[in-house]
Amino acid sequence: MSRPLTRSGQWSQTTTGISQSAALVKHTSYQIPTRTAFLMQITNFGKNICFTPTAHYSPQSEREVLEILEKHRGQTIRCVGRLHSWSRLIESEQVCLDLSHLQQVEPNSSGDDKFVDVGSGCQIKRLLAELNTRKQWTLPSVGFITEQSVAGSISTGTHGSGRHSLSHYVISVRVARYDVNGTPVIEDIVEGDELRAARCSLGCLGVILSVRMQCREAYRVEEHWREYSQLDEVELAEERFPLQQFYLAPWRWTIFVQHRRETEAKQSLLMHAYLWYRFLVIDVSMHLLILFIVRVIRSAWLIKVVCRWVLATFVIRGWRVVAPSRSQLVMEHELFRHVELELFVQKSQLSSALEFLKHVLVAVSESTSEISPKFRTQLDDTDSMEQLERLRGRYCHPYPICVRKILPDDTLISMATNATSRNPLVQGSHGTLLADEPWYSITLTNFQAPKSREAFDLVAEMMTKCMSELFGARPHWGKLNSLSTEELRSLYPAFDTFREICDKSDPQGAFRNAWTKRLLDSVNSR
Ligand SMILES: Cc1cc2nc3c(=O)[nH]c(=O)nc-3n(C[C@H](O)[C@H](O)[C@H](O)COP(=O)(O)OP(=O)(O)OC[C@H]3O[C@@H](n4cnc5c(N)ncnc54)[C@H](O)[C@@H]3O)c2cc1C
Repeated sequence: MSRPLTRSGQWSQTTTGISQSAALVKHTSYQIPTRTAFLMQITNFGKNICFTPTAHYSPQSEREVLEILEKHRGQTIRCVGRLHSWSRLIESEQVCLDLSHLQQVEPNSSGDDKFVDVGSGCQIKRLLAELNTRKQWTLPSVGFITEQSVAGSISTGTHGSGRHSLSHYVISVRVARYDVNGTPVIEDIVEGDELRAARCSLGCLGVILSVRMQCREAYRVEEHWREYSQLDEVELAEERFPLQQFYLAPWRWTIFVQHRRETEAKQSLLMHAYLWYRFLVIDVSMHLLILFIVRVIRSAWLIKVVCRWVLATFVIRGWRVVAPSRSQLVMEHELFRHVELELFVQKSQLSSALEFLKHVLVAVSESTSEISPKFRTQLDDTDSMEQLERLRGRYCHPYPICVRKILPDDTLISMATNATSRNPLVQGSHGTLLADEPWYSITLTNFQAPKSREAFDLVAEMMTKCMSELFGARPHWGKLNSLSTEELRSLYPAFDTFREICDKSDPQGAFRNAWTKRLLDSVNSR
């Protein structure tokens, strides 16, 4: 249940200290200055989304947020975090709020429960550092990178491997929004479906001011790499290495597993050497090589040779290293600009989904490869045969395909939720979800320059459509997402509950951009 805490009568309507826009255009690239007197063009990390809000603010306090809401009553308001999403969720047509000044970190405990109250704009990396220094605590889960803001991360269901997504660990969310009279208020969302909606809200429940999140004692993770030829073997190893993630190596078609598990063992003596190896060899050198091939050489033949024979030499197999989770679980994927498509399937669909993905990648890389009867049926069932024929010989995938396991989230619409509908007739387009089944995310990463990316975008579009129809695959809310809003809704049985909560807490649709408005509309639209 939500409780209004602050009413507009309690604060003055002065706009002191709040900047407004003027008529000059300035370019920024995922960096927003504190206060701006410009009409700013804002570009995301991936440089695939660009927008120019009519007003841009970087408030310093909750009170300033309320003042902005009061001043812009009747307009649409969207927040940005660190602009690390690739999807249209981040667009603001009118007022854009950057909450990066709200970054307080207040760790606390009650009995055995550890938690932190953290400002919505605090970056995950700062939160991890503060928790570690002040309490020797950490978060229960982290993604590949820690550049994101807390609010941005939870708003799209950001996740790592082997645990729930970050949204699942949210205890309460403090938001600023309008009440039924259009007065700006602050409320703490602490329980029920409202909390499950607020845990992953796509920015549609209002301005997130702070979040209370579960924490835990800092811990260490043992990691080593191994190469496998069969998915079954990788799945079997999960029992011993619950935090593992793996990479399907294109054109070699083996699986490199980053076996990981929590351990009581001491930090390895060679930990720093290993972390430097991982940074210099994998995060930097391997990426530079791939960049060179896809941007300069651009030869499908060479991509295949490098993927089959060279990339495998970058991986040292069997070196077991223990390091703190905050270093071991994080890679440096933000070093080189790129775009990502990430599709989530339940465990029972993983093997078929990966087989289908392999068929598509092989078929689009060559004009003549044979199409198996099973693959042909899948293409016919999804009306995609013609689309595939048009793409043949146009795209050769050069990057390991990452697969991560996510435990089911207690949310309404994060990608790894198994939430069902209150209405027994609504089950989503793929029947009832298996309640306890974990999800696996499959990530396709692309480093081509935007002007050369057309074929990848078309492949991503086709893959998303086919895999959502065949395997109930859900695209990451923060990544490339070409499904229609109607198709997206059908993937989440609890979507109607989410929409009802959004309508109730924001009846005017003040916190929706054009894309989320269409998503939350009850009529079908694209
Ligand atoms: C290199 C790279 C690696 C990545 N790795 C992973 C990964 O391992 N796992 C994973 O799941 N994802 C990953 N992502 C995706 C990323 O975690 C998500 O897209 C995340 O949402 C980005 O957070 P952000 O702070 O940049 O928020 P933004 O992208 O700026 O915003 C995301 C959403 O949050 C909303 N929002 C932000 N702040 C507020 C607020 N104060 N109040 C209300 N709404 C708000 C925005 O309106 C928007 O809807 C990665 C992205 C990149 C670029």
